[in-house]
Amino acid sequence: MRLDKLLAHSGFGSRKDVKQLLKSARVTVNDKKASSGKIHVNPELDQVYVDGERVVYEEFVYFLLNKPAGVISATEDFKDKTVIDLLDPIDQSKSPFPVGRLDKDTEGLLLLTNDGKLAHQLLSPKNNIGKTYYAIINQEVTEADQIAFKNGVVLDDGYQTKPAELVILTNDGTSEVELTITEGKFHQVKRMFEAVGKRVIYLKRIAMAEWKLDPDLGKGKYRRLTEEEISYLK
Ligand code: URA
Repeated sequence: MRLDKLLAHSGFGSRKDVKQLLKSARVTVNDKKASSGKIHVNPELDQVYVDGERVVYEEFVYFLLNKPAGVISATEDFKDKTVIDLLDPIDQSKSPFPVGRLDKDTEGLLLLTNDGKLAHQLLSPKNNIGKTYYAIINQEVTEADQIAFKNGVVLDDGYQTKPAELVILTNDGTSEVELTITEGKFHQVKRMFEAVGKRVIYLKRIAMAEWKLDPDLGKGKYRRLTEEEISYLK
C-alpha cells in the first residue's frame, strides 16, 4: 500500500497532514528517510518509523460501543451527532462504520468495524445472529405475548417475524422484558410490540451474537473487542 495511506490509516491525520509529516523528514522506511507518500510499502514486512517509533498497522479494528440515546447509527449526518463522533480521532482514522443500526432513541451495544466481511456475516439473515434487547413496555406483557412472539407476529407491513424469545422480568402495570430476535427489520422490536397492541417506552440492546454489553461501559464509551471476542465469528 502507499506510504501516505498507511500513515493516514495509522492515526497520523489527513492526507494533507501526512504530506507535511513526510516533508519534515520524520519518517523512515527500512532505515532510509522517506519524503514521498507515493512509495509502496508492505505494512507487515517494511519497517516504517515516525520520530523513531515503529508504525504498527492494523488493517481491521473492532469496537464495542455503548450507544447513548440521541446519536445516529451512521458514519455522517448533516444534523445530528453520529456514533463515529464518539470515537477518538485515531480510531476514526480507521474508517469504522456501525454494523447495523440502532434507532436514535435506542441505547446499548453497537459494534463498529471496518471489516466489511465480518459486518456482512453479522447482518446476513442466513446466519441467525441473536440480538437481545432489554425493553420497558407501557403495559403488562403476558404469556399470550410470549406465545405470539414465539410463533411470529405480523408487522404493519404484513411481514411475519421469525420465532423470538420473550422473557418477562417484571410485571407491575408496565413491564420490563428481554427479547431475543434473529433478524433486523426496521424498528423491529417496537413494531413487534405494536403488533400485540403495546408500546416500547425504553429500548437498549444488551447482547449480539457472543458479545455482551459490559455493565461498567458507560453510555457513549467504547472498547476494543478482545482477540477471543473477534474469533467468535471467524
Ligand atoms: N428494534 C427497534 O425497534 N429499534 C432498534 O433500535 C433496534 C431494534
